Amino acid sequence: MINRREFLKAGMATVPLVYRRDPLDLVAAENAGQVPSGTLVEHDPGIPWQRKLRRIGQTNFTEHDPAVFDIEGWADYWASAKVGAVFISVTGILAFYPSQVPFHRHGKYLNGRDFLGELYTAAKKRGLRTIARYSPDLNWGDALAAHPDWFMRDQQGQPQPTQDDPYLFQTCMFSTYMTDYFPAVMREVISRYDVDAHYSNGWPSFSLPVCYCNICRQLPPPKTPAYWDKFNERVTYLWKLYNSIAQEKKAESFYFLNMGGGIHSTPNLAELGETCHWFQADNQGRGGQDEPIWGAAQQGRVCNAVLDGKMATNVTAGWSTGPIRWREVTKTPAETQTWFDQSLASGMVPYYHIVGGETGLGEDLRWKKIGRDYFNWAARHDEHFVNKSTIANIGVVIGQRTQLFYKAPHGVSMQQNMDAMYYALLEGRFLFDFIHEDRLQLERLRKYSALILPNIALLSDEQCGQLHEYVEQGGSLLATFETSMYTNANERREDFGLADVFGIHLAGEMIGRRGNSNPYLARIERQHPMLNGFADTHWLPGAEYRLPLAPVENPILTVIPGYVAYPPEMSYPSTPRMTEPAVVVSVRGKSRLAYFPGDIEATMWLSGHTDLSLLLQNTIRWVAGDTVPVTIEGKGLIEAFAWETEPGFAVHVLNYTNPNAHRGWVREFYQIGEQKVQFRLPAERRVTRVELLRAERDIPFYAAGDSVEFTIPSVDSYEVAALHSA
Ligand SMILES: [Zn+2]
Repeated sequence: MINRREFLKAGMATVPLVYRRDPLDLVAAENAGQVPSGTLVEHDPGIPWQRKLRRIGQTNFTEHDPAVFDIEGWADYWASAKVGAVFISVTGILAFYPSQVPFHRHGKYLNGRDFLGELYTAAKKRGLRTIARYSPDLNWGDALAAHPDWFMRDQQGQPQPTQDDPYLFQTCMFSTYMTDYFPAVMREVISRYDVDAHYSNGWPSFSLPVCYCNICRQLPPPKTPAYWDKFNERVTYLWKLYNSIAQEKKAESFYFLNMGGGIHSTPNLAELGETCHWFQADNQGRGGQDEPIWGAAQQGRVCNAVLDGKMATNVTAGWSTGPIRWREVTKTPAETQTWFDQSLASGMVPYYHIVGGETGLGEDLRWKKIGRDYFNWAARHDEHFVNKSTIANIGVVIGQRTQLFYKAPHGVSMQQNMDAMYYALLEGRFLFDFIHEDRLQLERLRKYSALILPNIALLSDEQCGQLHEYVEQGGSLLATFETSMYTNANERREDFGLADVFGIHLAGEMIGRRGNSNPYLARIERQHPMLNGFADTHWLPGAEYRLPLAPVENPILTVIPGYVAYPPEMSYPSTPRMTEPAVVVSVRGKSRLAYFPGDIEATMWLSGHTDLSLLLQNTIRWVAGDTVPVTIEGKGLIEAFAWETEPGFAVHVLNYTNPNAHRGWVREFYQIGEQKVQFRLPAERRVTRVELLRAERDIPFYAAGDSVEFTIPSVDSYEVAALHSA
């Protein structure tokens, strides 16, 4: 092992630094012969360049752009928006430079021009970093004729054109397209331009590929955990290959891909979180369909679950997103703004994206002011958006295998199931982090007093063991419905994998609501903090589906079986009481444990019943215990984040009180009033100043012991209380 000075003395001073923080860089550099095998280069005292970027801009070029594009105007705009980097399209589908790589088709309007080179020069002139953007997902009929093995096939062996263009075909990620064609394009770019990093769009796809080419026929069946393992192996293999190519001439360069798609992403996020230098989430926005407002913030939580503080960006579309989309028309400014707000609040770097340079030439200029104003505001407060770690006492497990392979008995997707629990967490104003199922090691869980498992059906024996260990160490758990009923290979167990942890046993087949009938009711048998706020009733709504459990001692809620809804004459429970529990609660040492056998959060999502939300909130509050790091009291539906930052701490409040909270887009904002914050400081820390970043003024605060209290007078769309700390 040699240190940096010795390394430089050894005559290799021209080799740029490789970061010890990312050992894969070193592996790649070694593979590329840039450093002797086994060399460990001293860590650069500075942080990697990409983590200094605070804002990103992208104009997504069209084939027509080389004919009409205003390159200087483009570069001026992004510089005026104070971005640190721009994405420049190389593509792979259409070359924006005179590519010599066979089948890298030149656009109709390119005419031999080095459009990419001109863009690159204009960006560099303004001190902007440049990211080469590729699309390895599609190619044309001439490539298909020459290389039929490059392309995806359906079960009849036919190639698969894209939905929109019958002349563009989907390439197969297991084919040599990815190891021959794409590396050739990357190497050509590296030989011509000194770009800072390389990014591929469009791959892997947001749903697991289903391909019947000759290679894929040898793989396990599509949409199975066994296939997913092969898929992940291939993604990681290609990522490392492209990363090593990116570093052939420039060790501080790297490759990254699109990891968006939130909690139902296709690649294993825990694995890619280790590999990546930059988590790019292409989660651009919603439209006029039923989709909750928190899409970008939730994406940020997914990034935080796997990144350990590495760079994450979320793309915000200035164009009109949704089921009906207009790529070149600006969308409602309020919706764009809420996506920026959520990106910052959840710890990501905001990224503004528009399509087609013609929009910059006067056809629709409305997007310009939205991005520039917001980014210029954010730039005034950069230091408060550089986060060190989250402040949260609750962890919510996001089961990626459950998202991909579990089939719920009702029509609710697992995304909606998670959104339902998310809604309860927001209504209860809890501070929480997401935790990936493959990152349940005890050392990662210690900061959380409780974990929530919202129907995390697929859990391996090892993961169940880790949760068991967490409870042994004093951690608390809340789980619902089929949590741990399946192995990681999606095989059903005889009994819960977490049976011993919760003291529960399965006592029969799943019971669902029949036809038009009422679901079961839950009878209140005795008082408990989870029932706070339920006066004047013995009955609460049950869930639509449940797993019948063996009786437990001294139950809090029991099941009253479902019964006829129509006619009303017959609408009464014929069995008014059973011993079957509707919740199982226990206390073991410091651990508090609660398990609901019903699909309570999914039923809440479908019915909108506030009793179910209140029951969940009360139970979360009970399992999480009395030590709460931050409380925010006030009216309104908000999402909150708290961070330890470079200058101190920051409390972010996103105002979702809006008629369009559950259906895009936000049309305007509805201000909420006073939010009273109580912030518990870590030992030895004190606060010297509380500054509101949106209002851009200081507010008074009251400090006593380890706690700081202040009131945010009102919140329009978003407010950040920055706590300057000594
Ligand atoms: Zn294939």
